[in-house]
Amino acid sequence: MAENPEEFDIVVIGAGFSGLYALHRLRKDYKTICFEAGDGVGGTWYWNRYPGARVDIQSVEYSYGFDEELQQEWKWPEYFSAQPELEEYANHVADRFELRDNIRLSNAVESLRFDKETNRWHVQSENGDYVLCKYIIAATGSLSAPNMPDWPGREKFRGEIYHTTQWPREPIDLRNKRVGIIGTGSTGIQAAPLLAEKSKQLTVFQRTPAFSMPSGNRPTDEEHERNWKENYGERRDKMLDTYGVSLIEYGTKSAHECTPEEQHAILEEGWTSKSAFQMMVAFTDVMTDRAANEVVCEFVRSKIREIVDDPATAELLCPTDYPIGAKRLCIDNGYFSMFNRDNVSLVDVKAAPITELTETGLKTTDASYDLDVIVMATGFDAVTGALTRIEVEGVDGLKLRDKWSEGPTSYFGFMVAGFPNLFMIHGPLTPAALAQMITAGEWQVDYAARVIDDMEKDNYSCIDTTEEAEQSWADEVNIAASHTIFGQANSWYNGKNIEGKKGGFMIYVGGFPRYRELSENALNNNYKGFVRS
Ligand code: NAP
Repeated sequence: MAENPEEFDIVVIGAGFSGLYALHRLRKDYKTICFEAGDGVGGTWYWNRYPGARVDIQSVEYSYGFDEELQQEWKWPEYFSAQPELEEYANHVADRFELRDNIRLSNAVESLRFDKETNRWHVQSENGDYVLCKYIIAATGSLSAPNMPDWPGREKFRGEIYHTTQWPREPIDLRNKRVGIIGTGSTGIQAAPLLAEKSKQLTVFQRTPAFSMPSGNRPTDEEHERNWKENYGERRDKMLDTYGVSLIEYGTKSAHECTPEEQHAILEEGWTSKSAFQMMVAFTDVMTDRAANEVVCEFVRSKIREIVDDPATAELLCPTDYPIGAKRLCIDNGYFSMFNRDNVSLVDVKAAPITELTETGLKTTDASYDLDVIVMATGFDAVTGALTRIEVEGVDGLKLRDKWSEGPTSYFGFMVAGFPNLFMIHGPLTPAALAQMITAGEWQVDYAARVIDDMEKDNYSCIDTTEEAEQSWADEVNIAASHTIFGQANSWYNGKNIEGKKGGFMIYVGGFPRYRELSENALNNNYKGFVRS
């Protein structure tokens, strides 16, 4: 560790989309540095380079709105961009706004310690950098800490193992290889069809079947692009008044108000609407009423049965024990039809769980499978994982990991009591992935910038929140969730995807507009719930 620390006003952790914007936004007025674990920028779109990685929201929306020239000049080749385009876009932004000199790549932050005598954070990185700063922007991502199930025997396996979040840059030769993919969430569902095409044999190990609808991806047509570019200002405003996604058509009728024929027509239109997540809002009550939700579930199951030739495989692919949308709805490009290929098979690892990896493959409680390559599409220690993997120590030696041991607490997902001057972007109890992450991230960075500007203007040195404020926000989050069906599945939203992870629902489902309104009201109301000194 360097003895003499460098001094900055602000340290941004993470050079993903929110971190890049935070650096750009704050660097104008404050001495700001950004630390990034990867050797490139782009966050999610740097790490997740597995075959088939593609965004599930249209790129005209899933993109920055802070710079008019950028959004006018950038061309998205497809409606739903693939990872290479998104990574290229992040690199373009880093170059265009000359951010690179302030980004330290391959240099993850290892520890953060707050000194309340000086109101400074002590930041140490894996390369031995030692920095003192007044503010931290934790743009660490809500889906960035990989979940690696700890099966015994991993070291014995003679083949190759890849986690989808750490996919190599160089193409992997899968010809003549027997590939096993574990996990059928958004990632597994995107990767599997391409792995099936490239490999000799693909075995899909499924614990919970997923609801998925076709993405409808296609090349961008000129009319669509022109229409957006001519109206970007208005459209970005509309996005802020929704979930950051304006292209969904929100149903106006309850499922119970429709005849079976009407229900079918609405759902059929939703299925081919080419707008992701249309199914979740096809009727007004899909996400609040289990019976209405079941109408949509049954429709999707009927599609699976229609697409998949083998009835037993089709049944195994049909989700039956949780409502649609309670786990993130998946968007696919040919996932279900892939099971009609001769080289693809499906294994139920809920009925017979995986017990160990062996020299030649893996074992479940009732069989052994020979594999050359194992792909882990097993998801993330979501929302809290990225920050709890850093040693974060607030006032009086309070460790963030301990504070969150029974589940995360926060005020607006923005601050945690006892950790002054540390601002989270997409932190626990924000709308996170239930709003469109780039737009919501930009909004949250602007919110943090407003707080910092006010602090400096009014000569404050420290801002914290209180346990009472955290409790009031927890109540709002829990009430919002209790009116919905979101809690009725084991998912990364509630941490139940990770064995032993504690805590309740980690996402605010009251909507991005209400989230903005309440967060802004607090600042306008003399910083209600915050304590400045
Ligand atoms: P995920 O949704 O959490 O899925 C992980 C999968 O691994 C699940 O099928 C899970 O089964 C399975 N799994 C985990 N541990 C297992 C074990 N011990 N044994 C057997 N199976 C196990 O993770 P993800 O697919 O990476 O997606 C996470 C989120 O990232 C998505 O919800 C989405 O928000 C985002 N994402 C978006 C896109 C996109 O934009 N298109 C693409 C990828 C990811 P269970 O369901 O039984 O837990």
